[in-house]
Amino acid sequence: MELVLMRGPDVSCRVGINNGENLAVSVHDTATLHRQRPCQQFLLRYSLLLLLGLIATELLTTRIEAAEIMTAYAVIKYNSREQLKTFNNKVQIRGNSGRDWNSKETPEATAGIQISHLIIRVQKILGMHPNGLHFTITILDSPEQVQAAYYKQYGNTVDFIAFYSPGQETLYFAANHLRHSVLAHEIAHAVVHRYFEKTPPAAIHELLAQYVEKRL
Ligand SMILES: [Zn+2]
Repeated sequence: MELVLMRGPDVSCRVGINNGENLAVSVHDTATLHRQRPCQQFLLRYSLLLLLGLIATELLTTRIEAAEIMTAYAVIKYNSREQLKTFNNKVQIRGNSGRDWNSKETPEATAGIQISHLIIRVQKILGMHPNGLHFTITILDSPEQVQAAYYKQYGNTVDFIAFYSPGQETLYFAANHLRHSVLAHEIAHAVVHRYFEKTPPAAIHELLAQYVEKRL
């Protein structure tokens, strides 16, 4: 691939990309040496811009890339600490089970422990402990983002604040609109999905998830 960046009557610069990795620069000048200067200056400026662009992209990617918390039963994907704090305040699972909060804990640790507690509880209520249970939990900011994720997968418009995708083995929920019973309901879908070799009909799936919700 060769990209012509600038071409004048006497000067032309070419920047080629070899195998998508190495940036090869060649300068072609049919006239005198001093005429290469505008071209070299252009290449210098181009290189600086390219470098700045790469740094900016790296910074941006670091900021928007979802971080992950690895737990025994799930990998939790989230966008920011604020999102985790919202989740931790909304869903106080340990508080409900009579355990005190540890104020020195990081939001990551609290979220991981809370979700692990709930997954263990759901398995106990169902009496199902599937081998190798492991799924993904993606925390989104709002119900609108959850609904957009659903639309992307299934092409349907819904008003859900959370859903479980068996195909992706991923649970999506909105951090700012969550009750722990809703989260337990969706976790039940994940557990039931893994427990049976052949997944039961949707109506049975739903009955079991609703059963968990009521037994919390
Ligand atoms: Zn359900």
